[in-house]
Order: sequence, then C-alpha cells, then structure tokens
Amino acid sequence: MTKQTFLITGASDSIGAVYADRLARRGHNLILVARRADKLAELADRLRQDTGVSVDVIAADLANPDDLARVEARLRDDDAVTGLVNNAGIAGETSFVDADPAHLTALVNLNILAATRLAAAIAPRLAAKGRGAIINISSVTALIPDGFTATYPASKAYVLAFSEALHVELGAKGVRIQAVLPGATRTPIWTEEQLASLPAEIVMDVDDMVDAALAGFDAGESVTIPALPDMADYDAYIAARAALRPNLSLARPAPRYL
Ligand code: NAP
Repeated sequence: MTKQTFLITGASDSIGAVYADRLARRGHNLILVARRADKLAELADRLRQDTGVSVDVIAADLANPDDLARVEARLRDDDAVTGLVNNAGIAGETSFVDADPAHLTALVNLNILAATRLAAAIAPRLAAKGRGAIINISSVTALIPDGFTATYPASKAYVLAFSEALHVELGAKGVRIQAVLPGATRTPIWTEEQLASLPAEIVMDVDDMVDAALAGFDAGESVTIPALPDMADYDAYIAARAALRPNLSLARPAPRYL
C-alpha cells in the first residue's frame, strides 16, 4: 500500500482500533470515527506518539443522520482521504419475535445504511482518480444466515453482496474493494457469557483477525475469510452460485410450476 489517509469507523475499540494501530504502523494517516470521543482521543494520542502519523478524530453516531452527514462530507470533500474502513457495526439481537424495533432500526442504520452512504461519499473521488481502497467488514454469518439470528447476518450478507458489486464496478477503475468476513472474534460485541459459551477453537483474537485481513488485502483479495484454511472452498461455493446464473432468468416458468 502506498501511504494514504484512511478513515476508519468504529475505531474506538476492538477490530477498528486494531486496524487503526496497524495502518498507522504502515505509515498511513488516520481519521478515527466512533461515538466515544474520549476513547478516540486516547487512541489518537498513542498512535501519534508511537508512529508519528497524523490522526484526526470525529466523534459521531453513524446511526444518526446529522452525524452521518458530517462524516460523509469529510469523505466527499477531503482529497487526502483515499481509504475507508467501514467497520462500525452492532449485533446484540434477541430472537426476532422479541426484537426491539428501535434496536432493529439502529442495526440497519449502522450496519447497512451508514456503510453504504460512506462508501457512496468517497467512491466518486476514488473512481475519478483511479486509486484508493474501501474495506467493508462483513461477517461469516453472511454465508450462514440460518445459523445465528435474523437481522445481523442479513445485514452482513448485504455488506458482502454490496462489496462484490462494488468490486466489479470500482475495481475496473483502479479502486481496491475488500470484504472481510471474520468468524467469532474476541471483542465486546459479544457478552462475556456468549463468549464463554463458544468453543475456544472457533474464537479468534482480534489482533490475529486484523493481521490476517490485512494480509488478504496485501495479497489482492476482494473477499477475505481470515479463518478459512483453503480459499478453494470459497471459490467452489462461488462457482456453484455462478452455475445457477444461466437459468435464473428465463422467459418461461420452470416445468415444475406448470
Ligand atoms: P465492538 O467491539 O462492539 O466495537 C464496535 C465499534 O463500533 C466500537 O468502536 C463502537 O464505538 C463503534 N460503534 C458502535 N455503534 C456505533 C455508532 N452508532 N456510530 C459510530 N460508531 C459506532 O465490535 P467489533 O467486534 O470490533 O466489530 C467490528 C465490526 O466487525 C462490526 O461491523 C461487526 O459486525 C464485525 N464483526 C465482528 C465479529 C466478532 O465476532 N467480533 C465477527 C464478524 C464481524 P463507540 O461505542 O465509541 O461508538
């Protein structure tokens, strides 16, 4: 990666904070976004001292339209910003029948709407210049929507499909798009009880997860699954999906429906 300025959402903690650390150590300048201004300021101070890069912070609730608009404006107008890590996301779901409508709204606004609008704010500049990168943090639950709760995996499936389509459109113009699909990663997105209930062999440490994701980025991957031992398994899944394509849209219904 040439030296860039990356805007990282959800940078006050966990996966986003480790991205901030690793990108700063690579010499990139940063703009850190999250709600907790004190945690952002603390991380920014440490990274400036340790690495000498420039670090700005924007305290913003990305589920709030006014705050989202402020961050979009920075991505749209600041020519120095050539990288976006769309990381902020929430889970915390109950069963769907017990869902709190306010939480569902916040989840969709953050995991889907904010990620889309932020990408849309930076994409025209990057496409015009033929450079830069958008890294979208999806989840392996995008591939197993029947194995978790209803809304979170669906939001992450959106992020994956969105990234795949962006890769086709913007990749052709020289912009790197990467979807990252972490498995269970040891962060406060999980309650202590949830983490304790998971077999240790399926939970990755956050440093390992982000280092693997960046190794995937360096290798030129458009989809990175940090835990998957053999990417050929994912390629086979994509090939099976592609095999459906010639028959997914035809002039007549399938014989079984006649
Ligand atoms: P986390 O520990 O809960 O951290 C989430 C980050 O997002 C925090 O910095 C939080 O900061 C920020 N955030 C939350 N709501 C926000 C809002 N409304 N506006 C702005 N920032 C907000 O979560 P994580 O585990 O690091 O997850 C990061 C991403 O990875 C998420 O998209 C998640 O879905 C995905 N992921 C995680 C796992 C896992 O097992 N941990 C697995 C797959 C995918 P503030 O509270 O300061 O706003």
